[in-house]
Amino acid sequence: MSDVQLRDVSVAYDDVVAVREVNLIVPAGQVAAVLGPSGCGKSSLLRAVAGIEPTTSGQILINGEDQARVPTHRRSVGLMFQDHALFPHLSVGENVAFGLRMAGQSDEQIAQRTRQLLELVGLADRTDARPHELSGGQAQRVALARTLAPSPRVICLDEPMGSLDRVLRRDLIELLQAAFATEHSTVLYVSHDRDEAFALAHTVSVMRDGRIVQTGTGDELMNHPVDEWVSDFLS
Ligand code: ADP
Ligand code: MG
Repeated sequence: MSDVQLRDVSVAYDDVVAVREVNLIVPAGQVAAVLGPSGCGKSSLLRAVAGIEPTTSGQILINGEDQARVPTHRRSVGLMFQDHALFPHLSVGENVAFGLRMAGQSDEQIAQRTRQLLELVGLADRTDARPHELSGGQAQRVALARTLAPSPRVICLDEPMGSLDRVLRRDLIELLQAAFATEHSTVLYVSHDRDEAFALAHTVSVMRDGRIVQTGTGDELMNHPVDEWVSDFLS
């Protein structure tokens, strides 16, 4: 298990500053949510942790190691986006196995881990299906299995509920809770949905205009919001 620390991290696109001096700690094995309205900088922050967006200042540490000179593929950060984009020409099983093949695991290890993950997400009977044969909810679950399979040190989920309806969202939240517990994952979870963030995360950081304005448990945020904006946003 690994911990993540962000120290005064900023991200900018030319003259747009998307993330402003963010400080955040995700203890090993815990789930931290970043909750905020559209455009507040959540995805930029997550992409910086994964190493696909450069920081303009600050430090990102995984297990105390500064990631500044560590390229994306060596960070062992799993990133899952809203639009899950499975590889359309690969079967469900091959999609889940993809990262394991890249990591050079043996056929036996790959088969075993793939089976384990598909069982975890309840799709063991769809191993040979193609992505176009899946429902939206099933595809999201395969994308989750694919992200978890290589046991990344840190898992970054960017609004993974996508456009799922209410019932499917509830199912996926329960599945994520079970998956994070089974895998002892360190997770950074980005959402604009309060209930989702509160259900999944140990701590929730509220983000506004690129800044983290408050961090706490759901109860702490609801009972003691730092200002009117946070109070309004949460209600
Ligand atoms: P969120 O995920 O919370 O919706 P983003 O991180 O996507 O927020 O965006 C934060 C700010 O950065 C917004 O003002 C957005 O328009 C801007 N932004 C995001 N990505 C880019 C980009 N690739 N180029 C320029 N501006 C961007
Ligand atoms: Mg976003």
